[in-house]
Amino acid sequence: MHNLQVSRQTFDDVMMPVYAPHSMLITKGKGSYLFDSENNRYIDFTSGIAVNCLGHNHKQVRSIIKKQSKKLIHVSNLFANDKTLTLALKLTQKTDFSKIFFVNSGAEANEAALKLARRYAFEVYGPQKDEIISFDHSFHGRTFFSVCVGGQDKYSDGFGPKPASITHLPFNDIEAFKSQISDKTCAVIVEPLQGEGGIIPATDEFLEQVRALCSKHNALLIFDEVQTGIGRTGKLFAYMHSSVKPDILTTAKGIAAGLPLGAVLTTDEIGVHFSKGSHGSTFGGSPLSCAVGSYIIDTISNPVFLHKVEKKHKFFVKYLKAIAKNTGVIDDIRGKGLLLGVDLKEKYQPYASAIVQQCAKEGLFILIAGHHTLRIAPPLNIKKSVICEGLGILEHVLANIDSLIEK
Ligand SMILES: *Cc1c(COP(=O)(O)O)cnc(C)c1O
Repeated sequence: MHNLQVSRQTFDDVMMPVYAPHSMLITKGKGSYLFDSENNRYIDFTSGIAVNCLGHNHKQVRSIIKKQSKKLIHVSNLFANDKTLTLALKLTQKTDFSKIFFVNSGAEANEAALKLARRYAFEVYGPQKDEIISFDHSFHGRTFFSVCVGGQDKYSDGFGPKPASITHLPFNDIEAFKSQISDKTCAVIVEPLQGEGGIIPATDEFLEQVRALCSKHNALLIFDEVQTGIGRTGKLFAYMHSSVKPDILTTAKGIAAGLPLGAVLTTDEIGVHFSKGSHGSTFGGSPLSCAVGSYIIDTISNPVFLHKVEKKHKFFVKYLKAIAKNTGVIDDIRGKGLLLGVDLKEKYQPYASAIVQQCAKEGLFILIAGHHTLRIAPPLNIKKSVICEGLGILEHVLANIDSLIEK
């Protein structure tokens, strides 16, 4: 008989060491709380990295999964099915786009968007139009194409020859962009609010000028809304905050409340270039994920729900400003909706990960973005009382930062 008793140690024994998970073993979640194998409770300001948009163990999500699992979990794209098409209609009706392609993750959504942009340019303008422009510190996923397009070399170095004709430019620097974009540029990919890179917003002016120059040079503008989409910033998609409309939009993370699902949205004119057989996915857009996705879109696109996200944003910022004042540790508070970044003063920046560890010890999970920005991305339906409880822990940890430094 083999021993199947698992503990946190099992991770080090059998898992490839790409991650360094927290020291506890998570066994269940409820709402905005997580529980470990010893039944310790934690407030979850991470929501599975902006995925569990309605928290854990959500009653309706559970019931949809149960109901749909009795009908059809997967059938492949050899067949049309009712649930995938329902979600496709909802997403096209609620956005400025008319064509959709489903995948399982953010990286796959960007992979498909970049391939679509290259194919569109190839067919409409010719093979010389192949340059992809992206921005420093951007993150677009871990497939080899998407990671090479992403603006962090450390993630793409050391895996052999990279795909060609990818240019990285400083973010929010319109002069640099103006001097690079040309008729050779086929696509520009940008996160309207950089997530992994440090919760850094693109300025409205930058996006407007990028949009104008893309149109001038017939380059497609791709918005990576894998993290900022699905209500995370207080609108269904972040592009809805401004007048700038991308040609292609990618999304994933929160779209099916924790089931794997992603999507690429575009126009009829561009979408037609993903012709029969030019791209595909075995699992992409399964009826199970899409059944949940439909419920999520209905719930989150409700203006009352989105208004509450905005209100909670304001509450977070007000409380974080008070923490900044009381502790003297915080330099800057950024972000939109329930995607917040807290920058530490320079002196404390080396302790960002020690802060995250200490918060976990005291019962609060938070994230890091960039090198030293604390990132907060709780479930969108988190209760005010739980926000207070969590920020109380953060304040306690920051107020006692000297004890972390001494260690
Ligand atoms: C998380 C993320 C991705 C990658 O998504 P995966 O589902 O991990 O492949 C891509 N782009 C952005 C902006 C992200 O935040």
